[in-house]
Amino acid sequence: MSITTTNERVNLVGLTREDLLEAMSSIGEKPLRAKQLWHWIYFRGATDFATMTDLSKPLRAKLRDRFVVARPKVTREQTSTDGTRKWLFEFTGGQKAETVFIPEEDRGTVCISSQIGCTLTCRFCHTGTQRLVRNLTPSEIVGQLMAARDSYGEWPTPTDERRLLSNVVLMGMGEPLYNFDNVVAAMRIAMADDGIAIGRRRITLSTSGVVPEIHRCGKELNVNLAISLHAPDDDTRNVIMPINKKYPLKELIKACRNYPGARNARRITFEYVMLKGFNDTTSHARALLKLVKGLPCKFNLIPFNPWPGTPYECSDESTIQTFAELLWNAGYSAPIRTPRGRDILAACGQLKTDSEKLSVRKSRLQTDTAWKGREAVF
Ligand code: SAH
Ligand code: SF4
Repeated sequence: MSITTTNERVNLVGLTREDLLEAMSSIGEKPLRAKQLWHWIYFRGATDFATMTDLSKPLRAKLRDRFVVARPKVTREQTSTDGTRKWLFEFTGGQKAETVFIPEEDRGTVCISSQIGCTLTCRFCHTGTQRLVRNLTPSEIVGQLMAARDSYGEWPTPTDERRLLSNVVLMGMGEPLYNFDNVVAAMRIAMADDGIAIGRRRITLSTSGVVPEIHRCGKELNVNLAISLHAPDDDTRNVIMPINKKYPLKELIKACRNYPGARNARRITFEYVMLKGFNDTTSHARALLKLVKGLPCKFNLIPFNPWPGTPYECSDESTIQTFAELLWNAGYSAPIRTPRGRDILAACGQLKTDSEKLSVRKSRLQTDTAWKGREAVF
């Protein structure tokens, strides 16, 4: 990243260690300053140079003139009766995306977005119908997590086990492997021990199956991997996920088998959205078992979350149950996701902000059907 300090003040959030060093050298400061700033920004969560008391006053003034330490702007924050919290962020350019926090007994998961919209147009996904698509920057990606921490006052980084925001899933808007460089930069910041310190085993990246990047993901991040599978054969998957024509199941499963750690206890998660009469029969379940044979994995069965205009319906409860039992009986973990944050529309696959306001009627419709499919995934 090239650092410019001429026109606008540069946001230090999202800068890697190397970027910070470069930023300090660009203003004639020693490398030690970068180290101190890193600590203030990523360990203590400071947003105001005035609080950085181990820096001299003249230096603080100099920094304030050239830099900011800013989060994406929170335009709405809502907390569900079940504790799920949702933020609507506004990014540079006015585009918006949502971030969700799902507290559980033994952990708390922040679900973050990697793009505004998504280019992949999966037929069951509302995000894929959004016109406007752009990559989020490292600052905007890690900034969502930092803003979520701000909201819970979880700074400095807790060093004990009682951390509220302990896990991250890249399952919000967008395809993280189509914005991989920025995701890598953001996740490396999130993982650094002397900063936010979320271990790679507590981070899960969900992809629709961008095969060549799965390999890179293993090499460069080695976080947990979740695959949006949603069908056990190419014919079925081609209908709902156009990316399958580019990277068919054989290649996708091969990439999963080669993912680091897939051979030892670190199982890959296959997400499977339950679509009535489409992918939910017992023969689909049997085909699924055949497909993943010998691969250490688990399933996440996601009841389809409908949105206005969708051609699909959610499978019946009993059908989902039968499907799940078939997988359980074969020895796989296959939880059926239950609704979270219904009252605040913290819904999976419904993330289509496009800065459009929901009409009251539409918003009620979504409240009735909204559920949260990404909680407790890992
Ligand atoms: N692009 C990535 C990550 C974001 S989507 C991916 O596709 O994996 C997060 C999850 O929500 C994916 O498993 C996606 O398939 C699922 N999803 C999308 N729309 C949905 C809907 N309407 N109901 C239930 N799950 C949905
Ligand atoms: Fe994009 Fe994922 Fe939605 Fe497909 S399911 S359109 S890849 S966000």
